Amino acid sequence: MTKPPAPPKPRTLAAQALGDIEPQTKGIVPPVHVATTYLRDPDNAYSSGYVYGRPDNATVRQAEGVLAALEGAAAAMLLGSGMSAATAAVMALPEPGHIAASQVMYWGFRDWLLREAPRFGHTVEIVDTTDLDAVRDAVVPGKTRLVWIETPGNPLWTITDIAAVAQIAHAAGARVAVDSTVATPVFSRPLALGADLVMHSATKYLNGHSDVIAGALATATPDDPWWARIGELRARHGMILGPFEAWLLLRGLRTLDVRVRAQSEAAALLATWLGHHRGIERVLYPGLPHHPGHAVASRQMTGYGAMMSVQVHGGEGTAIEVAARVRLWKRATSLGGVESLIEHRASIEGPGSPCPTNLLRLSVGLEDPEDLYADLDRALGGSGT
Ligand SMILES: *Cc1c(COP(=O)(O)O)cnc(C)c1O
Repeated sequence: MTKPPAPPKPRTLAAQALGDIEPQTKGIVPPVHVATTYLRDPDNAYSSGYVYGRPDNATVRQAEGVLAALEGAAAAMLLGSGMSAATAAVMALPEPGHIAASQVMYWGFRDWLLREAPRFGHTVEIVDTTDLDAVRDAVVPGKTRLVWIETPGNPLWTITDIAAVAQIAHAAGARVAVDSTVATPVFSRPLALGADLVMHSATKYLNGHSDVIAGALATATPDDPWWARIGELRARHGMILGPFEAWLLLRGLRTLDVRVRAQSEAAALLATWLGHHRGIERVLYPGLPHHPGHAVASRQMTGYGAMMSVQVHGGEGTAIEVAARVRLWKRATSLGGVESLIEHRASIEGPGSPCPTNLLRLSVGLEDPEDLYADLDRALGGSGT
């Protein structure tokens, strides 16, 4: 007897978008399902399972299926942006309570937590989640409802121990959500480490081509009332991703694995080269052995990703000048696309940001790393190797 074949690996499933064939034409690329409404059967049923476009869409479902396979999740949900995914998760909490959130995280969501979440009755505490004692102090049994972590955390690429935080939170009856945008499902599977919810700005690596704004959530337990409530809010508030965006995202997901592996390899080279550059004070990249999160990252990730930051000698003025002098790197916010981006991060985060003013954030794309280094070296005034 022959052994049954091993189930296909996530990379295989994604490359073929789960292998779905369009039944009418046998097209191996799915169409975009644009209908907003569906025909009712003569017996008054909806045998296709689709009724209206605000709660549900077939193209969205298809992309959700691929993402769920990549995350090792039982279900995934796509929303109009990363922010709508993150905020829906908070708004769907069963009751108001205490929320503990990573100190180093996407500034837009930290700002929302501090300014908008209290309007829903929550109290929000910003915690250094890389410090497990600080997490233990912050999480109060019966009071804390949610621990929100971002790892690697923007823009210092701090690493939070997902399994350890999940243990602390669960012991106190709190849920754990992980913004895994930067890690991607290629390098990290937060659900397997004990997280209750994974969130992505699908605008970034999942789509990967800087042409879609999208957000995603994934769960291991779709019968969780929290998950059901997120779905209800998505439908009621009209937060579902549009079908064209979902189709582009599906196309992007097919190449996620090769893209992020190549980007991560290039990032590791650049981190090493820039670490020896005279114009650079410090390189922040979890793949470097001296990065404070290196040991935890090595344990919970299978790659270090393609985001890094550099602190330049000479302060804020020099940092802004260096960003002004690059030619190949694009001076722009966002991350995770095939083109490399450079950003003076403190300029966009504003007051209250933990971001050093001499910091430049680098999103490493798919260009040749030697070209990327040469451009940075020139912008730094040479003297690299
Ligand atoms: C971009 C980003 C977000 C916000 O996502 P949008 O798609 O822009 O709404 C959240 N978290 C991280 C880590 C991000 O990089």
